[in-house]
Amino acid sequence: MTVSTAVTGLGWPEPGRSAEGSAVDLRPGRDTGDGLGWPDDADNGAGPGPAGSATDLRATQSTQIVTATDIVTDRVGEVGDLADIDTPIAHQAAAAVYVTTRRREPLPAPASTRVMVVANQKGGVGKTTTAVNVAAAMAFNSLRVLVIDLDPQGNASTALGIDHHADIPSSYDVLVEETPLAEVIVPVDGIDGLWCVPATIDLAGAEIELVSLVARESRLRKSLTAHLAALPENASYDYVLIDCPPSLGLLTVNALVGGDEVFIPIQCEYYALEGLSQLLKNIDLVRAHLNPVLAVTTILLTMYDGRTRLAAQVAEEVRRHFGETVLRTTIPRSVRISEAPSYGQTVMTYDPGSSGALSYLEAAREMAERGAKPSADPTGHIPKENP
Ligand code: ADP
Ligand code: MG
Repeated sequence: MTVSTAVTGLGWPEPGRSAEGSAVDLRPGRDTGDGLGWPDDADNGAGPGPAGSATDLRATQSTQIVTATDIVTDRVGEVGDLADIDTPIAHQAAAAVYVTTRRREPLPAPASTRVMVVANQKGGVGKTTTAVNVAAAMAFNSLRVLVIDLDPQGNASTALGIDHHADIPSSYDVLVEETPLAEVIVPVDGIDGLWCVPATIDLAGAEIELVSLVARESRLRKSLTAHLAALPENASYDYVLIDCPPSLGLLTVNALVGGDEVFIPIQCEYYALEGLSQLLKNIDLVRAHLNPVLAVTTILLTMYDGRTRLAAQVAEEVRRHFGETVLRTTIPRSVRISEAPSYGQTVMTYDPGSSGALSYLEAAREMAERGAKPSADPTGHIPKENP
């Protein structure tokens, strides 16, 4: 695809400094040098390569975006007769059947529990929406999933229909009072195989209370390790998804120390990548000092609006920088996704035939099929040989 706009700013630092707005010029940090808040691809040799290669790559990458329409077209046929009736309602019904009853080909379970930290220090990028919907999609497909809500706002708890007023035992008790996880986990109503550790507003104080506690960064890890070790093999989780607050404080650090993989949702919007280098730096620090296995394994593009060139540009830039780590599936901007939490539901149950539900199911499927394969470079930077 051609990118003919002068760069109006995708969140890159100093966008005005790029030249004619060619594909190559769009590369953040390339013409602006170091220290501009971007993962420094100059350091790891991820330069644009020979003239023309960037453009070729863009063409390949564009074709890799999987939209909800593709999913409907490709997969809904699997549900049988309903998909043969060529009306919009039948199509949507077929999609709903596909999302809620797809048991013929259950998602593959990982060899051991994958603990994934859903993090991005920006608010409103789709962390919570992604955590709960991927979790629900996995649970609908026979996997066992635990969502740990680590945001004092408790949005994940709300979306899963879990009570989280101040008296409810919650992630605060686990972190601050050392309450065993088993005492705070609750099953999610209506979705077999899905559990949640709710967050209450108490957690807002935990950032400060944790400061003076022993082993303040690894309290979640200790609790989670003890819990997982005590579970019989057939009752263990396939996935634990930790929903982080929009900050890089001690709650997020506890999540990064407690998990093995970082899962970063990126909103396809203006300033999408602002601050991401700070998150990557923190991940590097945690890996160096507290959790050597931590790796950025998964990036998901959210709120993708296929009608705008901006969304396509953001998607291309993210793919250029993060390569294979980015899931092929993108999540479309969808009213149904944003309505679901006010009914205490995920979009998987609220409107299983919607494009949002299909996309989250597809993202979950991609994640499960990739297994625990980490990115070539755990920092999430593009490896040298992959321009
Ligand atoms: P975060 O957890 O990163 O702060 P949320 O998941 O809470 O972000 O999403 C922020 C807002 O955007 C919420 O109101 C949510 O309902 C809405 N939202 C998230 N994903 C989508 C989407 N794909 N389409 C439309 N609205 C979305
Ligand atoms: Mg959130």
